[in-house]
Amino acid sequence: MTDGERQLQNSLKRITWQSENCLSCVWFRPNDALNADLLERGFCVEPKLKGYELVVSGRDWCNLYKEVRQTQIDLLQEGKMKD
Ligand code: SF4
Repeated sequence: MTDGERQLQNSLKRITWQSENCLSCVWFRPNDALNADLLERGFCVEPKLKGYELVVSGRDWCNLYKEVRQTQIDLLQEGKMKD
């Protein structure tokens, strides 16, 4: 591996925090559940934070993160398709 490749690999490691962000959090309610990505905005409905009516994006995060299950994503998307 060259020095350039090693530098690139190290810089990519610095963005791995995005694996635990709002987009993959059980409390995230995206405005567009069908096309949600890191730039999607939505509400955080975590019980302690809900009262603040926080608008967060998919790339935001906090220490109350809890990983969403695929079944919840499926339910959100199926609900949007019926709207
Ligand atoms: S702000 Fe925290 S609790 Fe709310 S959706 Fe994002 S990671 Fe989850």
